[in-house]
Amino acid sequence: MLLSVVVPCYNEEEALPYFKAKFDAVVSLLPDVAFELLLVDDGSRDGTLALARRYAVEDERVIVLSFARNFGKEAALLAGLAHAKGDLVSVMDADLQDPPELLADMLQMMRETGCDCVATRRVTRAGEPPVRSFFARGFYRVINRFSAVQIVDGARDFRLMTREMADAIVRLPERRRFSKGLFAWVGFDTRYLEYENIERVAGVTKWSFWGLFRYALEGIISLTVAPLFISFVLGAACALGCAALLCFGAWLEALLCGLAALILTGIGVLGMVLARVFEEVKGRPVYILKEEKDKLKEEKDKE
Ligand code: UDP
Ligand code: MG
Repeated sequence: MLLSVVVPCYNEEEALPYFKAKFDAVVSLLPDVAFELLLVDDGSRDGTLALARRYAVEDERVIVLSFARNFGKEAALLAGLAHAKGDLVSVMDADLQDPPELLADMLQMMRETGCDCVATRRVTRAGEPPVRSFFARGFYRVINRFSAVQIVDGARDFRLMTREMADAIVRLPERRRFSKGLFAWVGFDTRYLEYENIERVAGVTKWSFWGLFRYALEGIISLTVAPLFISFVLGAACALGCAALLCFGAWLEALLCGLAALILTGIGVLGMVLARVFEEVKGRPVYILKEEKDKLKEEKDKE
């Protein structure tokens, strides 16, 4: 069995040596699994790429993908997943905030439960600026309120998944990607391992507050079209208000309220049409098969 580990790296020359050492240690404890390590250099401006190349020369399990410029972690994850050849695929950060030693637990959990994906969630946010935690919590509340799929609070991208699930993610054609949402959207039986927050081993975070804010907005917009309906609901409320005002004979107020109702419902209808267009443009599949007919037959033949 081959397990691919996908690691997006952007300016990680300081953290990467720690990561590689840890990875080697973890792998040596799992002799029954073959590994490939995909280091995706996301247009780093420091020595990350040179270091990754050196690892690839020294260690045949290491594969280096290198971007022409910085395209962002989402792009790096997609490239890694698309190039991974493993029967199982894992994604983790280079800074050891996603502890590689959890791989053993993930594998065990997968074998015991037969699930398709073992994901991780941080149960603490220790060491994180309080403002960031506050907004992160708010983000999960908003997204889970409006979206059809749920994202567990504190869920990380760090996970181990089956080939089928990785393929399903890669096949989603949308350009603006929010992996946490995509992982949830494709479905599959996902179990969570919990762990305490760990600070990065070396180097600095690539996320500014505004960067994260934009990322969160991206998540909300990509997962739900609910905000586009708000105008319609407000318009309907204004229409009711208008009717009530008419009953009381408040003509001028009723006129204003009626006009507001017209405008808002108009925008709302536009929003709903836009929501449909957005869904179509994203081009996500209508369904995802977990088991295909041929596969089931193959398994039967084996028995
Ligand atoms: N990363 C990347 N491209 C970017 C930003 C980050 O590939 O444009 C990688 C980074 O090297 C790390 C992971 O994404 O492996 C998470 O980044 P970071 O640790 O800075 O984020 P944080 O843990 O602070 O959320
Ligand atoms: Mg980090």
